Amino acid sequence: MPIGAIGGNAERNRDHNQKVVLEYVRANEPAGRAEIAKSCSLSIQAVSNITAVLEEQGLLKPDGHRTGVRGKPALQYRFNPDGACAVGVELRPDAIVATLMNLSGEVAFSKHQFIDSAHPEIAVPLIVDLVEEAIAVTKRPKSTLLGVGIVMPGPFGETALTSAGEAVLPGWSEINTQQVFQDALGYPVLIENDATAAAVSERVAGIAKGLNNFCFIYFGTGIGLGVVSKGHAQRGAFGNAGEIGHIITQAGGNLCACGNKGCLETYASRFAAKQHMKQFGINLETGRDFAQVLKDQDPNMLNWMQNASAHLSQVIGIVENLYDPQTVILGGALPDILIDSLIEHLELPVGSVSNRDDREIARVIRGFSGRETAAIGAAAMIIHQTITPSNLTLA
Ligand SMILES: [Zn+2]
Repeated sequence: MPIGAIGGNAERNRDHNQKVVLEYVRANEPAGRAEIAKSCSLSIQAVSNITAVLEEQGLLKPDGHRTGVRGKPALQYRFNPDGACAVGVELRPDAIVATLMNLSGEVAFSKHQFIDSAHPEIAVPLIVDLVEEAIAVTKRPKSTLLGVGIVMPGPFGETALTSAGEAVLPGWSEINTQQVFQDALGYPVLIENDATAAAVSERVAGIAKGLNNFCFIYFGTGIGLGVVSKGHAQRGAFGNAGEIGHIITQAGGNLCACGNKGCLETYASRFAAKQHMKQFGINLETGRDFAQVLKDQDPNMLNWMQNASAHLSQVIGIVENLYDPQTVILGGALPDILIDSLIEHLELPVGSVSNRDDREIARVIRGFSGRETAAIGAAAMIIHQTITPSNLTLA
């Protein structure tokens, strides 16, 4: 039984107790009612009611009887990882990524679709089709879908950054995104920014497994930050915490689409690299293009890299001093070779709380990355909300 996950018998706690029982069986299966009751501090009657509900929902399945030291054989229960599932969708300016995940975090469906426009009128029907395709291909009853996690680049709502540059999706700031998706899909919907969802994904299935305090710098079209502190994702008042692309790293520097001069995004983003190389007649469209110029040791690309890493180093120093993370992870929609090269070129500030002798993990590491990272994180968030007791919430 994990620390802190203690049930209570009050009626209002029924939903919480269901999660406690489910979590106990998942971690200790097979388990009988008496054992569950004792371990979760619940009455046998309460456990009987809860297991009946969970069995009806398909989340627990009976697994025969086991004879105890005395008394009649007790019915055993197992966790059913395919009793429910969640879909995670990432909407980017040029693509939609969809994944379907079961309760154990296994990805059963994954699809990447290029789009001409991320405008709601075009993107919403495509997402509806993708969710239906995910359910159909994996042959799951519709009733087992817990919800759909939708990941988008921030910022959410009308802010001064709303129409700032390439990373922003057109047509979304003035509509109620949650409502639009809920109405179109007919399932519960969770909206999250890409950097936070990617951080959660790293914790659930990537390099941050076992880490409770870390920062994740996400390279989408722009640059975002996901922060996990004491196991919880930090969102801010409007879900916009971590908008680090518009931190100024050069006073009076490059003009940014947001109106500032010298934002990080104008030096170290995928878009900045594309713009820089365009001057020299090189078009960087795909990850393969990036990998090639790096393999060729193109001097213009190396110049960009040096400069981008210098700006990134400053921001990593800021992030370290703000959050005191176990590590800072870099990941997202950049090829591994580019992230590795950025890390190699970093000159991290010496004066940082993270510069300490007793480190067990490097100050900066590369995430497991992959283009599904944020979509997987969104699906994982739905699953955690459904099956994890709130005092154990992972992210
Ligand atoms: Zn800016």
